[in-house]
Amino acid sequence: SPSKKVCILGSGNWGSTAARIVGGNVVKLADFDDTVKLWVYEELVNGRKLTDIINTEHENVKYLPGHKLPKNVVAVSDAIEAVKGATHIIIVIPHQFIKHLLDTVRGSILPNATAISLIKGIGISDRGMTTMTQTIHRTLAIPVSSLSGANIADEIAEEKYCETTIGCHDPDEAIVWRSLFNTPYFQVNCVADVIGVEFCGALKNVVAVGAGFIDGLGLGNNTKAAIIRIGFLEMRRLAMHISGAHIQESTFMESCGIADVITTCYGGRNRRLAEEFVKTGKPMPQLEKEMLNGQKLQGYLTAEEVHSYIDSCGVTDHFPLFTNIYQICYEHKPPYTIFAGLNVDFSRD
Ligand code: NAD
Ligand code: 13P
Repeated sequence: SPSKKVCILGSGNWGSTAARIVGGNVVKLADFDDTVKLWVYEELVNGRKLTDIINTEHENVKYLPGHKLPKNVVAVSDAIEAVKGATHIIIVIPHQFIKHLLDTVRGSILPNATAISLIKGIGISDRGMTTMTQTIHRTLAIPVSSLSGANIADEIAEEKYCETTIGCHDPDEAIVWRSLFNTPYFQVNCVADVIGVEFCGALKNVVAVGAGFIDGLGLGNNTKAAIIRIGFLEMRRLAMHISGAHIQESTFMESCGIADVITTCYGGRNRRLAEEFVKTGKPMPQLEKEMLNGQKLQGYLTAEEVHSYIDSCGVTDHFPLFTNIYQICYEHKPPYTIFAGLNVDFSRD
């Protein structure tokens, strides 16, 4: 009988897309159980439980409408039930909810389980800035890998070719994770740099907010390219500032790095709502409620987390774009102040 079992914690836009991919792959892997438990944060959709809808219609009609999930993906509303017997735990929820979920499942996971985080976000604690894999590892005491890339979920659900990056320390485990995710339209490349991959995924969301401001101001492609370039360099500078000894420069050239900044600054939700923020003057949480039908933004929260970190280190001068984006989001600075002090020298980074 199969010795391995996978579960997915989180069923939003990306979680549901990941369930489509993994559910399709797992049935072809002899050492994996065919059933994939998918933890759903339960809610009513048109008077019916979302888990019931997923298990009868095989579609997440709220977060990934129009795309069927494989029938071996089984929705459950109890996270403890989802992780029961799972050797491979995929975690894909908005980063602001991670602590509660980990506290719920911590006593119920197999000691030999391993996890992978698809989350794009960071955490702030008294230890400074923590990545999601660090938070998960500290709570669950199991190995944790990361997956991040230029991956707008809707496009992947439509099976349009793209790439992604898995960060995994153990080469044998990397092969297993790759076998769960890789498809002809979703090309996985594995690197050993777990936190480099996730820093890229988290920090690009702040750059995406900046790109949305540029669109809201009605400025052009050259301006956005400038924001992408400077944003990319601030991402790299910050990641190296926090964990330089543990991050490989080459990670920034993977899908999780340069490619994700580009796709998010053109096609992402953070970009779209930041454009609307400039045009309407409405606060981000209000726009999120009005425009996203339950989906969540990571960028404006990450802008605040980044700011609190660089401010506490006294290095805001080294990150003018991140600082300006924070001040526009939270301190009522006008959007055109995004350009203030951007002529930074990155040549020695
Ligand atoms: P989403 O934004 O589409 O949906 C929000 C999810 O959060 C829903 O499943 C909802 O049920 C759940 N939720 C609401 N309140 C909750 C609570 N209190 N506790 C736990 N869950 C709650 O979700 P998503 O797009 O799957 O995002 C998950 C992560 O994946 C994020 O870090 C995001 O940045 C990342 N990501 C998203 C995409 C994308 O294109 N959507 C691509 C790559 C990575
Ligand atoms: P948004 O959350 O801004 O839509 O970005 C999705 C993403 O991470 C694309 O890689």
